Amino acid sequence: MMEEEPQGAPPPEQRAKQYHRIHLKLSLCRFALSFAFLLVIIFSGASLSLRQAVQSIGYNPWFVVGLYGLSFSLLVELLFLPFSYYSGYAVEHRFRLSTQSRRAWLRERGKGIGLSLLLGLLMLEVFYGIIRKYPRGWWLPVAGVFVFIFIILARLAPVVFLPIFFKLKELEGEELMRRLKALAERAGTEVRGIYEMDLSRKSKTVNAALAGWGKTRRLILSDTLLQNFTPEEIETVIAHELGHQVGHHTWKMMALQTVTMGLSLFLCERGLRKTIPLFPFQGVDDVAGLPLVILIMSLLGLVFLPLINAYSRHLERRADRFSPGNTESPGFFISTMEKLAELNLADKSPHPVVEFLFYSHPSISKRITDAKRIFK
Ligand SMILES: [Zn+2]
Repeated sequence: MMEEEPQGAPPPEQRAKQYHRIHLKLSLCRFALSFAFLLVIIFSGASLSLRQAVQSIGYNPWFVVGLYGLSFSLLVELLFLPFSYYSGYAVEHRFRLSTQSRRAWLRERGKGIGLSLLLGLLMLEVFYGIIRKYPRGWWLPVAGVFVFIFIILARLAPVVFLPIFFKLKELEGEELMRRLKALAERAGTEVRGIYEMDLSRKSKTVNAALAGWGKTRRLILSDTLLQNFTPEEIETVIAHELGHQVGHHTWKMMALQTVTMGLSLFLCERGLRKTIPLFPFQGVDDVAGLPLVILIMSLLGLVFLPLINAYSRHLERRADRFSPGNTESPGFFISTMEKLAELNLADKSPHPVVEFLFYSHPSISKRITDAKRIFK
């Protein structure tokens, strides 16, 4: 897995290719290993033993699901820690993208694990609570409650979750604010708030996003973007984000994800009905069958991933088209894209298959060609 340190200083495009090749290999390895791990824990009877061990402490179903879920998650986290470290810390440092110390990385990782445990356990309790109540046809209420939870989380994200990892402050600079307000006006929308995020504390990469909805909807720009881009380029980035806002892209994406999740849960219910009796599990509501649920859901997730990515790329193209139209010249769009590629070490022209399967945004080369074609 460890690759040789590149000799000399390869050209940026080659470095970007190398960087993405490593991450792709790591992701594929991680997926294969997770798959193997789930099979082992199901077929060896380890999952059953874990549930029995939990039951030796207490029989309350909420308790059993909670403690099983906690132990299972910690086991997985521990097993995959070397992977997380290598891909999240070592590779980022090797390609000089990270500005984080090892201690800071570990602290962040701890916070991430804490938060995902909290949310994961909540979803798990909901999932098994509903299955116990509706042993057949549980997929529909589960999908309904999950969508409700996701909508609430999306609303809370910029004000509750993001501040756990970043410091956010309102964007300073009167001139820039004036420009951006004028831009929003031209776009026929309003900016509720523009915030600066201290990404530079962790990384040299740049980022911008539209987050939240209703009162929490806001544009968030990384300080690295503000430091490295000209006002015209920042305008281009904001115009793209406004394109998402005007086109209601967050809701459209959420709608597609609702459909694919509902379909996955429906197929998972059918799958479990057929497979659970083949194992010594007590029924679908037996939490010892959780690895089987994860296995089925991840395989279905893999099937739907290209569809979700294709739709996301479509929305990104729409936002891009919205963007140069609102700024003076496509020249700014192109220089923004070039800078983005350079700072984020993006692979400007990935293999078409890789782009089709895994890319949520069109490749930089396609985005530039598109802009040249449309905004001559
Ligand atoms: Zn976008």
